Amino acid sequence: MHIATKIKILVTPDQADVLWHLSEKCRLLYNFALAERNQNYQENKDQPDKQYIGYVQQANALPELKKKYPEYKWVYSKVLQTTLKSLDDNFTSFFALRQNGDEGANPPGFKGKDHFCTLRYNQSGFAITEGRIRFSHFYNDVPLAFDLPEGQMFVNVKQVDLFYDDLKGAYYVSIVHEVQPDQEYVDNGLYQAWDLGITKHVGVNSHGKFLEVTNARPDRYWNPKIDAVQSRRDHCTKKSRKWKRLNHVKQKMERKRSNQLRDFQHKLSRKLVRNTRATTILVGDLSVKQMPQSKQATPGLNRSTQNTGHLSRFIGFLTYKAALAGKRVIKIDERYTTKICCVCGAVHDMPLGKRVMNCECGNQIDRDRNSAVNIMVRFLSQHALWIGYRQFAGNLRQTGLEIPGHSQEAPCASGG
Ligand SMILES: [Zn+2]
Repeated sequence: MHIATKIKILVTPDQADVLWHLSEKCRLLYNFALAERNQNYQENKDQPDKQYIGYVQQANALPELKKKYPEYKWVYSKVLQTTLKSLDDNFTSFFALRQNGDEGANPPGFKGKDHFCTLRYNQSGFAITEGRIRFSHFYNDVPLAFDLPEGQMFVNVKQVDLFYDDLKGAYYVSIVHEVQPDQEYVDNGLYQAWDLGITKHVGVNSHGKFLEVTNARPDRYWNPKIDAVQSRRDHCTKKSRKWKRLNHVKQKMERKRSNQLRDFQHKLSRKLVRNTRATTILVGDLSVKQMPQSKQATPGLNRSTQNTGHLSRFIGFLTYKAALAGKRVIKIDERYTTKICCVCGAVHDMPLGKRVMNCECGNQIDRDRNSAVNIMVRFLSQHALWIGYRQFAGNLRQTGLEIPGHSQEAPCASGG
């Protein structure tokens, strides 16, 4: 499997000069390609059958552009191509968001003067030898060669991004390389099912034991502070010196909020993978998660959709950490898992604030626990793991929870 490793690099003033010249060419190309697309759209929007200009045409036009403006030859040609590709990707994700009903999604915009355009080297144009990474360029003779951390091996490197973080004032490379798992995946008959949430994750394992971890919520600390700075900023003339200073403060706070959450998610995913004997970890599939609020333009919308984004990132961390440890994360369709009573299968209305399910059958259970049990049951029955199912039911019974255990059918798994 491939993972990305981010490394800070030390850049001399001469090298920085080269990098900014290369970035500037990419930035201009990006803006130029974006303008071309916009114009093409304006001219043809009344012709429904018209194929709009896309990545392939724009990439094919590169040789012509370099003939006309030889400075573009400074940049390694694959890097120019990936610049056009990133514009294409930005459009694709914009259209996807709009299609999903996100009216707030903005189309790709022009990159401003101070923007450092990421230099993406795909497959070629770079070399890693003896703890150093080198990049091809044709601006002047200053070599772009940087030290990598000692003892770190990069096998089968597919892609390297070179970028600048203006809040930190530092340059980085992100190396996408192959890593070998410590061991191969074997289904050992032990499973762990998780209902992932914003405030906490609740799990249940094959032994019928419930687990609970509380999420760090850096947003609770930072959001009021960010809102306060933003409101002060918005009282200033836009782009004035004070506005810029406050905007910078705001961006720094947002960065901290997001870094703290990311760090927490890294640690937690590692812990979850390590602290279980189960080799198979089950989580709800967020792509089918029902989010009734997502169609409405509520003020909190951005933050609530952000939260789902954070959850899918967490699943991403979990998945690759599991894979490295010879374990597997499987996504389960979690539709109705919060609404179906895991004992009798009755469907209940469970608005978000309702923490406990009280079923006519006598089952009284925490909503997240109920959901975790349903995820486990759904997996076991979908895969016809009836021995595993009966053991799970038997183990749960000892905790006082009687899910149907004797019949071949698992009623609460069938809903949805
Ligand atoms: Zn019930």
